[in-house]
Amino acid sequence: MITMSNHAGAVSELVEQLGRLPGIGRKSAERLAFHLLRVSEHEALGLADAIRRVRKDVRYCSACFNLSETELCSICSDPNRDKTRICVVEQPRDLMSLEQSSAYRGVYHVLLGRIAPLDGIGPDQLTIDPLVERVRKGNFVEVIMATNPTVEGDGTSLYISNLLSEYPVVVTRLARGITAGSVLEYANREMIADALTGRQKL
Ligand SMILES: [Zn+2]
Repeated sequence: MITMSNHAGAVSELVEQLGRLPGIGRKSAERLAFHLLRVSEHEALGLADAIRRVRKDVRYCSACFNLSETELCSICSDPNRDKTRICVVEQPRDLMSLEQSSAYRGVYHVLLGRIAPLDGIGPDQLTIDPLVERVRKGNFVEVIMATNPTVEGDGTSLYISNLLSEYPVVVTRLARGITAGSVLEYANREMIADALTGRQKL
């Protein structure tokens, strides 16, 4: 049986790199490395190119911090979106879940995390200041808090709603159709639509 120990440095390096990915242990890393050696060069380099492109071309939207390949993301630059409603989510993947439900036509603000004192994450490390600035300058009538229904998500939501209390906007929270502990990422289309429809004033 061929083991990694008698392989070239390049292969060991690949195994090492793959093994750093979340959820990939040593055995899986080796399996993936062998797979990449077996497939066509075109296919293997396609993966390398995709990684290179995503790191080079994708950045955060300058308005909402969604992932974007342009200064403004496709949602912020869409003239058909309702620019009076802003939905606050923790991560770009939460935004994607909400988008897939097709139940929301407003714009978003991605916090890029949640306040988590135990992990040393304070409000300053999130995009809370730019959010307050947007609300101060914009013509928003409603801010919908769609942070996850966890202790930290709720805490973040409360912190932000306190900051926004001096502005003439209604702050609402997604209804608990999404049961506590579950996250937007895993919620299905109907659950998200229900949570949006049943949102309540915070
Ligand atoms: Zn945007």
